[in-house]
Amino acid sequence: MRLAGKVALVTGGARGIGLAIARRYVDEGAWVVVADVDREALQAAVDDVLGERGRALYLDVTDQAAVERGVAGVHEEFGRLDILVNNAAVFDLAPIEDVTRESFRRIFDVNVEGALFMMQAVARYMPGEDGRGKIVNMASQAGRRGEALVSVYCASKAAVISLTQSAGLAFARRGINVNAISPGVVDTPMWDEVDALFARYEHREPGEKKRLVGEAVPFGRMGVPDDHAGAAVFLASAESDYVVGQTLNVDGGNCLN
Ligand code: NAD
Repeated sequence: MRLAGKVALVTGGARGIGLAIARRYVDEGAWVVVADVDREALQAAVDDVLGERGRALYLDVTDQAAVERGVAGVHEEFGRLDILVNNAAVFDLAPIEDVTRESFRRIFDVNVEGALFMMQAVARYMPGEDGRGKIVNMASQAGRRGEALVSVYCASKAAVISLTQSAGLAFARRGINVNAISPGVVDTPMWDEVDALFARYEHREPGEKKRLVGEAVPFGRMGVPDDHAGAAVFLASAESDYVVGQTLNVDGGNCLN
């Protein structure tokens, strides 16, 4: 019960890694609000996975007014807001010659602006009267290096790592920790979309890219959502109070920095 009595907000928490983190936070004693644009998945997340300590919030992280309202609403309901997991993101890939402004803006709107303005909104309420505020951003191994077909998503995740450093420094003396988790390749609905895009651009069979990236992980398999929950608890708990602006690789050994 390392998060007993805490209140957490997890964006993109209706499925995948976000939902696995939300479930673990509930197990550790927190109240968890999952915020997402997928209404059906949100309801199922609360009904089937999180139970009475879970809440669903329809929230598009690119809508700044809705972000302000949503965060204020969580604080009003619980009287506190201790933890933000900035997990919502979208993926796309294309050769650089084919990248469209629309795709670029969509990726940066959700992955970068969404994360920044969520941090700004929650920081108004952090820290509460007891303990420190905790912000956990979801980066990616894609932010550690470029990839020929994945330029924009990689750049967006490099920006998340950079924002984590800046916000970590900005908030360190205000009682808020900002850190990030960098997953590698994780078997979620997002990777099904990734696999379909690689199949198209690299002329592969469906499922082939997913198999290959899984086999290449030093640990011996792709990640699963729950692999990230332990790090997310650590970065949300008092055990990480002296950890500032870091991005922790949770990737089976894909990145060694
Ligand atoms: P996912 O696509 O399965 O889930 C993402 C969730 O975000 C979805 O429920 C979606 O509805 C929600 N979302 C999308 N746009 C939103 C918006 N504008 N506002 C609110 N919610 C929105 O993704 P996942 O694989 O679980 O990934 C979770 C995080 O981990 C993301 O930040 C992703 O970039 C990162 N990541 C994933 C992998 C991987 O291999 N799956 C690897 C590295 C990093």
